[in-house]
This record gives sequence, C-alpha cells and structure tokens, in this order.
Amino acid sequence: MSRINNQIKLAQEMQVSGFNVVTCGHCGTVNIHRMSQEDIECWSCGYSSEPCDFPDYFYEGMPEQTNETSS
Ligand SMILES: [Zn+2]
Repeated sequence: MSRINNQIKLAQEMQVSGFNVVTCGHCGTVNIHRMSQEDIECWSCGYSSEPCDFPDYFYEGMPEQTNETSS
C-alpha cells in the first residue's frame, strides 16, 4: 500500500470514530473537528462556518494520491 493510501485509510478510520481532518476554507490551516458539530471554527484564523466550507484534508482521489499512482 502506498504511503498516501495509508494516510487516507487512517483518515477514514478517524471518520468512523467521529473525527475528521479538514482544511480551513479561509486560511487553509489543517483542523481536526468532531463530525457531530454543526459548525467548525478554525483554530488559526477564527473563521467559523459549516463543514462544507472546510474540505477534507485526506480523501479518496486526492491529487497527491493520483500523482503517486501514475508515477
Ligand atoms: Zn483558518
């Protein structure tokens, strides 16, 4: 298993446990959040919004995964 695939697998296991690793839609900082929360507040810049404004940091088909698979 490639290194990035392993990270994605671990991120998915975190999601099963109710946590997710996301990036702030405002400043790009990585945040961990509890998936039961309604809103996420970025620890770095204070931006607060719905989870849809905080994209997953690791996800199936992320560019780094595609790059590694094709190389
Ligand atoms: Zn932020």
